[in-house]
Amino acid sequence: MKPPLEAPPEQVKAETGAKESSARSGSAPLIDTSKMSAGKAAALELAESSRDPLDERGSFASNLFIGRYDFDRIFPYPAQSDEDRAKGEGFLEKLKTYLRDHVDADEIDRTGEIPQKNIDDLFEMGAFGVKIPQQFGGLGLSQVNYGRAAMLLGSWDENLTALVSAHQSIGVAQPLLLFGTEEQKRKYLPRVARKEISAFALTEWNAGSDPANMSLRADPTDDGSAFIMNGEKLWCTNGVKAGVLVVMAKTPPKIVKGKERKQITAFIVDVDSPGLEITYRCHFMGLRALYNGVVKFTNVRVPRENMIAKEGQGLKVALTTLNTGRLTIPAACVGLSKRLLEICRKWAKERVQWGVPIGQHYAIAGKIAEMAGSIFAMEAMTFLTSALVDRKSGDLRIETAMCKMWATETTWRLADEAMQVRGGRGYETAQSLAGRGEEPIPVERFLRDCRINTIFEGSSEIMRLFVAREALDPHLKVGGAIFNTQLPTSERLKAVFTSGKFYVAWYPKQWLPGSAGELKGVQDDLRAHVHYASRTSKRLARGLFHAMTRFGPKLDREQLLLSRFVGIATELFAISATCSFAQYKIDRGEPAHEILSVANYFCRSAKMRIDHHFAGTSRNVDRAGFDLTQELLAGKHADLGEGIV
Ligand SMILES: Cc1cc2nc3c(=O)[nH]c(=O)nc-3n(C[C@H](O)[C@H](O)[C@H](O)COP(=O)(O)OP(=O)(O)OC[C@H]3O[C@@H](n4cnc5c(N)ncnc54)[C@H](O)[C@@H]3O)c2cc1C
Repeated sequence: MKPPLEAPPEQVKAETGAKESSARSGSAPLIDTSKMSAGKAAALELAESSRDPLDERGSFASNLFIGRYDFDRIFPYPAQSDEDRAKGEGFLEKLKTYLRDHVDADEIDRTGEIPQKNIDDLFEMGAFGVKIPQQFGGLGLSQVNYGRAAMLLGSWDENLTALVSAHQSIGVAQPLLLFGTEEQKRKYLPRVARKEISAFALTEWNAGSDPANMSLRADPTDDGSAFIMNGEKLWCTNGVKAGVLVVMAKTPPKIVKGKERKQITAFIVDVDSPGLEITYRCHFMGLRALYNGVVKFTNVRVPRENMIAKEGQGLKVALTTLNTGRLTIPAACVGLSKRLLEICRKWAKERVQWGVPIGQHYAIAGKIAEMAGSIFAMEAMTFLTSALVDRKSGDLRIETAMCKMWATETTWRLADEAMQVRGGRGYETAQSLAGRGEEPIPVERFLRDCRINTIFEGSSEIMRLFVAREALDPHLKVGGAIFNTQLPTSERLKAVFTSGKFYVAWYPKQWLPGSAGELKGVQDDLRAHVHYASRTSKRLARGLFHAMTRFGPKLDREQLLLSRFVGIATELFAISATCSFAQYKIDRGEPAHEILSVANYFCRSAKMRIDHHFAGTSRNVDRAGFDLTQELLAGKHADLGEGIV
């Protein structure tokens, strides 16, 4: 097993002088928090202390940032085994037929309510307990089968998708499967698998992207047998229908090495507990039947045995739950995007303007090709990552974050393009279309419904920061001590010397021609894309290193610059997954020319986006934009607000 940056871990540790594990324990973080505001430093230190120990070799996607391209980790494509597929087939077939014949998605959207019969039937079918082991009343299916269910749901009705997904991807089931005691699993998993909706309550008024800032309190009773909760949670999806919630709350701080450390703890809370009220049902642009609400806690007593993991590990429970939980969203995005493609390819053939079907106009053809290529890549990335989750292939946080960020942004763009392809009919509601005798194709509903995906379960901005932080991690391990003003000067000087020695060996390698190896059994076209990805990962590693030397410890403030590096790595991951997936499909006997045309299209378009990102790393208006915004926030440029109501 290779450590980051190709030096033995002991050497990295010894050479840097930085206590590698200290970042995890929070005693001397590698990121220098001493110059940050107290709030930011506390949030970062808390997040740091909640991180899982990294697999030293990193994952495929995280290694892209250090110029290491291990295609063999994702090739051959980790396809679903026949056995696993067979296990899910019966349920998935039933779900598909049920959605088509019994779920009226437009009616759900119009009324803002999901018929109870639909919910009951889905419980009966096991749709609320797909991943819950059979011994606890669930179907015991794999992540890939769960993803396939999300894809079916996403292609039909986003309200049901959100209900089912919030319930089991982040609701009670997932944190209990990861952290629950046997007793908790026995008590709650059968309930949530078969009869009760669950929800995940993290967000508050002042704690959105920064959950460490929460204020809901859980104070231990005098005898220590329970906690008393007071406060409010905002936007709790399913809260209005749920029987049981996972709630993250502030418990009394601990003193660690003389310093007060904030404690966040996770609890299972029964909704019928006295003092718990759903005080408001929220309504949104899309997902009009989302049972989302404000949950108020007034002296709610929660028994100690309902604590998930240990006191103080609540943020870790929440973040770890989200790490895999957020894979459901890209799977649903694949379904939704496939549906949009079906709508568009039919319409682009049928609709004739200026004497030809609109699909023969370049402007429309380009949009449809973009949809096809993106869907292929999205499916490749999402199901590759899901299969690796099933195989327990180490740390996949970067992959899941990339899938979530890329798929949700791409789907929003595709939905926007689908509306354009459908023209005025795209903007018209399904009900109105039906009212005047046209097919009720709900593009406007899909557009409204998919917008939230880039915001919840980790917004795109936060996903980029998260990936960037992980991208810098190996460098921080090697050279982070230089920038850490909390360390004694002697240690920092030592780090300059030792990390310098390290980079003398590492850096020149990033200029050597990259190769992904022989790539036996890979089609020529695909091989060229894979070699490109290998070469480009070295260019990415160099670019990131140059940025580190240029900005030093202030690099974390350069969010737009970092987002370009994250964008490049994400596109490289997409290209690599696409090539692996394409080869798998060809080997399986699917028509090679069709597979290659879509895979080639995607890889070529991804390369253009990569070029654009690289160009922005050397020439951009980031600083000017930041300064302009500060002027705007300070009340200058009043003219820009003139002439309006
Ligand atoms: C429909 C819906 C359902 C939801 N369901 C749930 C649920 O079931 N459970 C739950 O706990 N929460 C839920 N949420 C909350 C959701 O997860 C949050 O909206 C999300 O985390 C963002 O928080 P915020 O809205 O407070 O935005 P803020 O955190 O205020 O952010 C505003 C903007 O600033 C950006 N931003 C914030 N910090 C940074 C930074 N450091 N650097 C760069 N950009 C930054 C954000 O990306 C965003 O674009 C739901 C929200 C909605 C709207």
